[in-house]
Amino acid sequence: VIRLENVEKYYGTFKVLEGVSLNVRSGEKVVVCGPSGSGKSTLIRCVNGLEDHHGGRIVVNGSELTEASKDQIRRTVGMVFQQFNLFPHLTVLENCTLSPIWTLKIPRKQAEERAYRYLERVRIAEQAHKYPSQLSGGQQQRVAIARALCIEPQVLLFDEPTSALDPEMVNEVLQTMQALAAEGRTMVCVTHEMGFARSVADKIVFMDRGAIGEAAPPDEFFENPRSERLKNFLGQLK
Ligand code: ATP
Ligand code: MG
Repeated sequence: VIRLENVEKYYGTFKVLEGVSLNVRSGEKVVVCGPSGSGKSTLIRCVNGLEDHHGGRIVVNGSELTEASKDQIRRTVGMVFQQFNLFPHLTVLENCTLSPIWTLKIPRKQAEERAYRYLERVRIAEQAHKYPSQLSGGQQQRVAIARALCIEPQVLLFDEPTSALDPEMVNEVLQTMQALAAEGRTMVCVTHEMGFARSVADKIVFMDRGAIGEAAPPDEFFENPRSERLKNFLGQLK
């Protein structure tokens, strides 16, 4: 579903991504972790065209990501951010129907039915007419997940979806993500929740200074880290 070939990106003269290659197959769950500033957010923002890349290729669902294909590709990629990024002046329901109605041109009634279906999926349908500010952080993040599902994406990207949450709300969001994983969805999650990574990931990727330091299935990743830098990183998390 996603193929990255030697992807490079600069901010000015600073090289943030130093040739990243990664494959994500249909139904696969990939967790991306690594030190702050290693390029995790940049990498997944490049995948759905929120940031441009400057070298290499990004192929999503068989189409190479270019200026011309970007809008089409973004319709198939759902994204969940650390800070929820809900529109504060729109209700929960309106947040969920905005993109289906205006981008996918789905009739309002159908878009609302779809929104209720996914709001129920994240167990928050009863809050549909509230505004984001009237919800807890965990509830807002579940709405953001429902909103991402409402475009019926081929892939879901998460960028540290639980790091802005109070500790008691982390689990409700992780449980929601776990349920989505169990449905067989294709997911790429930047997270430092290693319990989640261990139970859900098919593959864990360690980003280090703009490159993939190591990538392995959870058992191997945790039991046999090869580099000192990954050992240090894992040590710090404990
Ligand atoms: P964190 O764990 O803190 O979220 P990250 O791995 O997601 O870190 P990125 O946000 O991808 O890291 O940033 C990678 C590097 O690029 C950092 O050194 C950061 O300072 C730099 N950077 C990120 N965004 C910009 C920008 N818009 N302009 C210039 N430099 C940037
Ligand atoms: Mg980040």
